[in-house]
Amino acid sequence: MASFSVCCGNKACDANCRCCISKITCACDCNDIGSPDKDFNWDKLQWAIDYIKVRQVPSALITGRGEPCLHQKHLLDIAAELRQRKLHVEVQTNGKALSTWSYDSINELKRYCGNVAISVFSLDPRENNEIMRFNNGSYDICRLVNYLNAFGITVRLVYMLYFENHKSSYQEKKDSAWFLSRIKIARNMGVKQITFRSVGIPESENQCPQIEWAESHGDRNDYTHIIRNIANKRLWDMSWGGQVYDVDGMSVCIESGPEGCLTERVEKPRSFIFDGQNLRYSWQYEGAIIF
Ligand code: SF4
Repeated sequence: MASFSVCCGNKACDANCRCCISKITCACDCNDIGSPDKDFNWDKLQWAIDYIKVRQVPSALITGRGEPCLHQKHLLDIAAELRQRKLHVEVQTNGKALSTWSYDSINELKRYCGNVAISVFSLDPRENNEIMRFNNGSYDICRLVNYLNAFGITVRLVYMLYFENHKSSYQEKKDSAWFLSRIKIARNMGVKQITFRSVGIPESENQCPQIEWAESHGDRNDYTHIIRNIANKRLWDMSWGGQVYDVDGMSVCIESGPEGCLTERVEKPRSFIFDGQNLRYSWQYEGAIIF
């Protein structure tokens, strides 16, 4: 089943992740840091929803070229529109701006959105901040999870896999104890779903610090066999290769391997992406445009 992503806001972000590719991929290359919704074509969003609905895509992920939760009104407007069209709505965020949303704003979000996916590189805020490098310091992930849970919003952690040291100097391959400890901490925090994902490297002729970091520190080992060994049950195989398991009551998705998060299949799109102006089926190839 393909996913449907809708880009909210502009390129502004309150983090400076060492491997941020969102400004490099072409689906993110069409907006500056001006008004968050100035180029957003609401009519075409309707066409895009019609297009994915006949292809039986049941849910939509609100994401961004930067951090979508910096743009509360734009995000809530998009979420309301998607929900009105009977799509299940998930928001992808780095968590920091969302952790400052007021009670009333989260209460409104909850009317449209069932899941929030928080991207992390570590569950230790200090370690996480070493990679994500938030402006003005980190935030309390555990507090945010509790806050969202109190509104009945299900939290999914998207745990990006990386090596703390340069991989040519020391390869820290992860074992079952590594995964089990992260799953246990996440469960104790109130997280219901966790996705372990390799950092993707876009095809680009221009080297940049983000690609260099992803090449030197991104952990693109395939850990599927480890999750399979610690799981109680294999639940779901995604069409692009990700697999979902039950591990002690936690939904654990593993999307690791050499291709990373930009995995694509020629025969079947992994995702449809509405970038505010066009519907696409790839983040990285400019020609992958539907309308
Ligand atoms: S949170 Fe996302 S958009 Fe912001 S710097 Fe990190 S990867 Fe880039």
